[in-house]
Amino acid sequence: MKSAMLYGAKDLRIVDLPEPSAPGPGQVRVRFGAGGICGSDLSYFAKFKVGDFAVREPMILGHEVAGEVAETGAGVTRVKAGDRVAVNPNQPCRVCRTCVAGRGNLCMKMNFFGSAAVHPHIQGVFRESLVVPEELCHKVPGSTDFRVAAMAEPLAVTMHAVNRAGPLIGRHVLITGCGPIGALTLMVARRAGAATVTVTDLADGALERARALGADATVNSASEAERVTSWAENKGTFDVAFECSGSMAGMHTAILSTASGGRVVQVGMMGDTPVPINRLMSREVDFIGAFRFDAEYAWAVRDLAAGAIDVSPLLTHSFPMAEAGAAFAVAADRAVSMKVHLTL
Ligand SMILES: [Zn+2]
Ligand SMILES: [Zn+2]
Repeated sequence: MKSAMLYGAKDLRIVDLPEPSAPGPGQVRVRFGAGGICGSDLSYFAKFKVGDFAVREPMILGHEVAGEVAETGAGVTRVKAGDRVAVNPNQPCRVCRTCVAGRGNLCMKMNFFGSAAVHPHIQGVFRESLVVPEELCHKVPGSTDFRVAAMAEPLAVTMHAVNRAGPLIGRHVLITGCGPIGALTLMVARRAGAATVTVTDLADGALERARALGADATVNSASEAERVTSWAENKGTFDVAFECSGSMAGMHTAILSTASGGRVVQVGMMGDTPVPINRLMSREVDFIGAFRFDAEYAWAVRDLAAGAIDVSPLLTHSFPMAEAGAAFAVAADRAVSMKVHLTL
């Protein structure tokens, strides 16, 4: 089976791997339909690491996937051959102390596709065939585009981030960074009742898309820097900020622009970096992390299948897996692309 495997920085190869063995009891074999290229895949590709997770052996990339059930093992009841499914890449153990406390996204023994967080690495989903436990398969209607179903993963990330923010109804929201995660956060924040949503980015193309998706204001943090700095005046402007750029500048903007008593949710991933602690402390701004998702995956699939959240404006490009190199180049160019998918 064809797979997109990373051997080093910028060294992505299409390799032919043996077909996986037939699904065992409770397992499902899924034929690849579409897989989204995520910011973390781009980071692995460019730097051979993401945040603190360095790649130590060849790794198949990808964790945002949907496909068609090809075969089911004994005892599988929720899906059958021919069904379209979105596949949840999160496999928490459900028995460790964080799982038992109801926070499966923070599982201490998490298996997550296409991740170098543990060693040996968990191989990713950019491959023709995948054998997974039944409970990871979420059925969608046969009419659902595989690319839309694959968006359940990033959508779940943003639903979790909005959950971490607390009630948004009537609140003024800032989103720093408008890649796919920022754009989805915008849609989810709207759905959660935010009064206004302001979006910053460095790329005018991304801001244009944010306006089309319903942002109240968009600001280019490079060319309109004085507008960004003005948000820090009078003890801050926004009730809640979502930092979705994974950049130090974005994080500083989010913290300085949040009003006293407000909350900043760090969604983007970056290396360790200085934080303006005095501004957090003296204005009682809550600075909290949001990492992956748990129950939100099922909610995301439901909203996508029902059309309650329309992600189609975000789906800018798709490439056959054999052209994964070109797909990664386009995905890395934020001036032209939003979400890029691989298909078979
Ligand atoms: Zn992702
Ligand atoms: Zn666990």
